[in-house]
Amino acid sequence: MKLNFKSVFCFALAALLAVTALMPACLSENTYTKFSRRALDIFDTEITLMGYARTQEEFDRAFDDTMALLRRFDQVFDAYNAYEDLNNLYYVNRHAAEAPVEIPEELFALISWCKEQWSRGLRSTNIAMGAVLSIWHTYREAGLANPEAAQLPPMEDLLAASKHTDFDQVILDAEKQTVFFADPQITLDVGAVAKGWAADAVLPYLKEHMPSFLISLGGNVYAGDAPLDGRANWAVGVEDPRPDENGGGLMYRDIVDVHDLTVVTSGDYWRYYVVDGQRYHHIIDPETLFPSTKMISVTIICESSTLADFLSTTLFVLSPKDGLKLIDSMEGVEALWMLTDGTQQASCGMAQYLRSLKNAGGAV
Ligand code: AMP
Ligand code: MG
Repeated sequence: MKLNFKSVFCFALAALLAVTALMPACLSENTYTKFSRRALDIFDTEITLMGYARTQEEFDRAFDDTMALLRRFDQVFDAYNAYEDLNNLYYVNRHAAEAPVEIPEELFALISWCKEQWSRGLRSTNIAMGAVLSIWHTYREAGLANPEAAQLPPMEDLLAASKHTDFDQVILDAEKQTVFFADPQITLDVGAVAKGWAADAVLPYLKEHMPSFLISLGGNVYAGDAPLDGRANWAVGVEDPRPDENGGGLMYRDIVDVHDLTVVTSGDYWRYYVVDGQRYHHIIDPETLFPSTKMISVTIICESSTLADFLSTTLFVLSPKDGLKLIDSMEGVEALWMLTDGTQQASCGMAQYLRSLKNAGGAV
């Protein structure tokens, strides 16, 4: 496991969740207890489920079922590994230019949803940018494996790849549930949205099996109904993207209080490598073909985790000004930006969730 800010944050989040787990639960009908468990082998991140159940066995069953669902989604959305008898993203990227490939419904739903956003003109998150993203992936993996020899991808390679990123060349057939690449060099990478989509997809199961829960997939958190310990909300930490520069101790810049909402963060500190002392992270601006440097992190709060995940990547690429304009045009979506100068910017409705704004009298 790579030791970077992401893993440190995951550890800190787990610690926060563990602390809340220790709080005495004022049990609904005195029958529920709060449990918490983690999985480290899915979506290349740490997944934590905290929730209420009548017994440990009941919680374990719900946890195992949820992880089984997530494991399946992880395989379906995996662009780097093949699995037997599964037309996953890896398979699609290799064969969809030869002939239409029939794909699992989860993959079809996610690609279609992303294509709708593209058609609406939201193009900063472009899952058809796989050709460019895989170059960065290769150089980042090589750089992490051998930091002394870390290199940047040559611009001419990135430019050549960027000619094969037109989502309109990805042809979907809803009736046959197939995908076809009209451009033989196009490939898909759903890393910007897969965890959010997966979080939404396990909600029906979790809502049916637990009176209240909180699930965290790396930077994607979904907080269900209010906890049963009397609090009105779950507390979710908004991590400090630069804890070392700010004294090292504090892992959180702020806390949001939410229920029945998702909290999703994109940041430059989750996945990166270093070349000549400079960090190069994993969110690529389609305009420059380089990691976007307009901010340090952005956090989205709304009901849909898929939308939040999509928007967190989108806003990370847009300027804070354009991002705010976009958020203001959307109903029920709020955002918090951590800017490069150390200051924050928040959309208006963020004040109802963010502790620092509530404490400053900004609550609505
Ligand atoms: P997130 O952490 O949700 O912002 O997603 C980051 C991941 O999305 C990266 O690891 C890439 O796999 C992918 N990605 C990076 N930049 C883009 C982009 N501009 N459009 C679509 N996917 C991207
Ligand atoms: Mg995202």
